[in-house]
Amino acid sequence: MYRLANVERFPKVIESGILYWSQEYEMSAHRCACGCGDVIQLPVDELNFRITQDSQGVTLRPSVGNWGVCDAHYYITNGRVEWLEQMSPAAIAAGRQAEDDRRKNYYSRQQSWVKRVRNWFGNLKKRIFG
Ligand SMILES: [Zn+2]
Repeated sequence: MYRLANVERFPKVIESGILYWSQEYEMSAHRCACGCGDVIQLPVDELNFRITQDSQGVTLRPSVGNWGVCDAHYYITNGRVEWLEQMSPAAIAAGRQAEDDRRKNYYSRQQSWVKRVRNWFGNLKKRIFG
């Protein structure tokens, strides 16, 4: 369970079970729900996370994914932790692979562009000096 604490600045010690929210700095902090002790800081603004508080408790959207630390993945809904499927190591690796491929494609496209320019200059030189 989490309860909301509206703060201006985060305290030195982040207590577990408390979702700290600084509206001033548009940041939130809480200890990871899995108990690993990691402090997760999230930006709270229209582009990132939203926090709502009503009589049921505090709700944080979208889901928190502590990838690469403990891989915990969950929602906080009405103060309760709703566990979501963990991304399997294979799924995480596949995601990384896709990113690598994108990067490689990007660079190979750049390289071919460089090659084309070189060829063009090469041809030009031939025409001038040939
Ligand atoms: Zn954790």
